[in-house]
Amino acid sequence: NLFAEMGLPAPLVKKLTAMGIEEPTPIQTHAIPYALDGNDVMGLAQTGTGKTAAFGLPLLAQLMEMRGKPEPKTVRSLILAPTRELAGQIRDALLPLVKDTPIKIGVVVGGASINAQIKRLERGTDVLVATPGRLLDLLDRRALRLDSTRFLVLDEADQMLDLGFIHALRKIAGLLPAERQTMLFSATMPKQMEEIAASYLTHPKRVQV
Ligand code: AMP
Repeated sequence: NLFAEMGLPAPLVKKLTAMGIEEPTPIQTHAIPYALDGNDVMGLAQTGTGKTAAFGLPLLAQLMEMRGKPEPKTVRSLILAPTRELAGQIRDALLPLVKDTPIKIGVVVGGASINAQIKRLERGTDVLVATPGRLLDLLDRRALRLDSTRFLVLDEADQMLDLGFIHALRKIAGLLPAERQTMLFSATMPKQMEEIAASYLTHPKRVQV
């Protein structure tokens, strides 16, 4: 199994097989080994290429090695998405991979009850999938802290720029530790994205499909 050969842990590979996923897509073949080695990754890939698993698998593999539970209000890994629909799709794609593990996935997006989200964040989160606006709102309310967040994923980063989230992204990134792993995925690479990549990623490995 090529996923196992990349170094993904056996329980994750088993879940992939149970889902009928036997072979990596090109973006997964290129991005997963880099990410498992702890590199920052910049991926140029459209929806439908398997990009969610390309960042999700190495992220979950590394979280599975962490002991204990996250401290109250902390977030171990943050996935930012432009829309609540995409945030929900990411959660749905990752859920079967964390089945029967202690890893919990939270989602905070606009249009849902903020009080329920504040309560949910209180106990700490392994994987938080968020839209930037609602996340900023929650940060302003001190509902969570990002000072121990070691993994950041920016999914459909070009869409986040188009939707005017650049200010929110800057603010959020400024709250994360500099010592972290960042993966940025985008369908296009406009000039502004190069600037974002230069400021948020450290010696990124570039993968393109
Ligand atoms: P994404 O590009 O992440 O939105 O994924 C598109 C679809 O491809 C999703 O339905 C995934 O479940 C599926 N998928 C992801 N990786 C693989 C793979 N290696 N083999 C077959 N299907 C996959």
